[in-house]
Amino acid sequence: SFSLDGETAIVTGAAQGLGKQMASGLAEMGADVAIADVNREKADATAAELDGETEVVATEVDVTDEASVEAMVEDVTDRLGPIDVLVNNAGIVENSPAEETGIDSWRRVVAVNLDGVFLCAKHVGRQMLERGEGRIVNISSMSGFDVNVPQKQASYNTTKAGVRMLTQSLAVEWGDRGVRVNAIAPGYMRTDLVDEVLAENPEMEETWLENTPMGRLGRPEELKELVVYLASDASSYVTGSTVVIDGGYTS
Ligand code: NAD
Repeated sequence: SFSLDGETAIVTGAAQGLGKQMASGLAEMGADVAIADVNREKADATAAELDGETEVVATEVDVTDEASVEAMVEDVTDRLGPIDVLVNNAGIVENSPAEETGIDSWRRVVAVNLDGVFLCAKHVGRQMLERGEGRIVNISSMSGFDVNVPQKQASYNTTKAGVRMLTQSLAVEWGDRGVRVNAIAPGYMRTDLVDEVLAENPEMEETWLENTPMGRLGRPEELKELVVYLASDASSYVTGSTVVIDGGYTS
């Protein structure tokens, strides 16, 4: 069933954008949800907005910092109980031509998009393995499948492809221990992250629309049902999969 009644979920980077919508979708299906974000103020506001039928709380975390991730797991477990669902959504993009990209920029993107997913999966995963029960959903991107010409974001594309392989690796390691691990690869969904790219390169929107068979960008709320599917028993035999949701862009 799609129900998440009585379950506890963490969504990283959920103060805004896709994470906020996915947190809202999980709460609508009955889960208590922790809005885990480096932006404490925004996380507080989002938690207050989503708090309703179920409990929605904010927790501050920098997913690149292992001690911070461990503190998040403890905080959420204390306040909401053992974690059934983890959505690794926190992610950043830095656009720059490869030959001009500084190592600091490269490392920032790898730290959030790849180290962050690994660290949260490791520490929440440990708890799930002890209980023999849990579902993890990692947010990759269609950029982890295809390079979107003319964008210059080698670090982003590389980390998002890495998220797919990390998803498969964890699914295999934990497959017979009750923990399922899947990923979602969204196309262009209209969030701040995408607006930032368009602010720098407004002409890109037309190219994107031309390359999207459905002829429009995605709406962030269109991720809700997909994350609920992967986070619930509705997907009980699905693990190691990356589901693309991109209006046909990569087809
Ligand atoms: P966004 O920039 O709107 O939100 C990202 C959130 O992550 C912010 O609240 C930010 O504070 C938080 N965050 C950043 N660094 C963090 C850290 N170190 N620790 C904890 N939180 C941190 O982005 P979005 O568009 O909602 O994207 C969410 C995810 O979806 C990202 O992984 C992104 O790569 C992926 N994605 C987005 C699109 C899109 O079109 N918007 C497409 C494909 C994939």
